[in-house]
Amino acid sequence: MNRPETDPTIRDGERAVALPAATDAGVYFIGRIHTPYTDRSECPRQGRADGPECEIEVFEPWAAALEGIENAPRIEVLYWLHEARRDLVAQVPRHHGERRGTFALRSPVRPNPIGTLVVPLVAVRGNRLIVRGLDCLDGTPLIDIKPERCAFGPAPANQP
Ligand code: SAM
Repeated sequence: MNRPETDPTIRDGERAVALPAATDAGVYFIGRIHTPYTDRSECPRQGRADGPECEIEVFEPWAAALEGIENAPRIEVLYWLHEARRDLVAQVPRHHGERRGTFALRSPVRPNPIGTLVVPLVAVRGNRLIVRGLDCLDGTPLIDIKPERCAFGPAPANQP
C-alpha cells in the first residue's frame, strides 16, 4: 500500500507497504554491541577498519560459542538494526537523492533490518570481543558472529 503523499515520515518518491500480520521465524539476540554512537546521525554510513574501537558483548549461554574465535583476524558481525522501519520498498537515500528499491541499497530500512560488516578483531576478553570500526548505534542487538571467509564475496569454486 502506498502511503499518502502527505506522510511526513517518508521522502517524496519513497513507497511504503503494509507489513504482513505475522513474522515467519524468531531470532535470538545473542548479545549487544557497544559503540560510541548514541544517535543514528553520528554513525558512519559504513564501518571502517580504521574506525574507533567497539565492543561486542556476548550473552550467556552463547559465550561458549566463542571458543577459537581468537584465531580469526577479521570477523563478520551480523546485527539487528532495531530502530529501522521495515515497510519501505522504495527509498530515496539522502546522500544521492535517487530512488532505488530497498534490495538495491544497504540502507538499514528493510523488511528484516539486518546489518553485516567484516571488522578487524583486536582482542578477546572473556565474553567480549574488541573490534574496530562498527557503524551501528550503541546498544544494537547482536544476532551472529562468523569468522571472515572472504571480505567481498563467496569463496572460489571447489573450496569448502
Ligand atoms: N554495515 C551494515 C550493512 O551494510 O549491512 C549497515 C549499514 S547501514 C547503512 C548503517 C547505518 O544504519 C548507520 O549509518 C545508521 O544511520 C543506521 N543505524 C545504525 N545502527 C542502527 C540501529 N540500531 N537501528 C537503526 N538504524 C541504525
